[in-house]
Amino acid sequence: MERTLSIIKPDGAEKNIIGKVIERFESAGLRIAALRKIKLSKEDAKGFYIVHKERPFYDSLTDFMSSGSVVVMVIEGEGAILKVREIMGATNPEDAAPGTIRADFAANVEKNTVHGSDSPESAGFEIPYFFPALDIC
Ligand code: GDP
Repeated sequence: MERTLSIIKPDGAEKNIIGKVIERFESAGLRIAALRKIKLSKEDAKGFYIVHKERPFYDSLTDFMSSGSVVVMVIEGEGAILKVREIMGATNPEDAAPGTIRADFAANVEKNTVHGSDSPESAGFEIPYFFPALDIC
């Protein structure tokens, strides 16, 4: 059993496809262990994406992530980290495999609808960034 942190980004919440995104995870046998809809401040977004602070898109990405509401979720299941990444598709929707969330819904490499932890180490940082242990069922 593994846990990962996923976010439906502001473009996904704005397009009103929260249910559609969650359905992709549930129908793959994954379970939602915690879920909240929130609005990140610029500082919240900068802290979350701190690993990207030297990247040229850091400022634009954190502006985008704080531009509207997001849904943060803990997803659990066997191999959840990799499974969620497969269901999401590649970062750039132009490269994402058909049938993935990003291929179907993402506008571009930045507004790509969904986030998923990329490793156990990332999940270990990202899950407690949003959820105290007692809020995860
Ligand atoms: P992910 O793990 O697939 O989300 O991709 P990364 O960890 O490499 O990047 C984090 C997020 O930064 C991506 O999901 C995008 O929203 C954004 N991003 C990545 N690459 C670019 C880029 O080249 N330009 C811009 N504007 N945003 C990017």
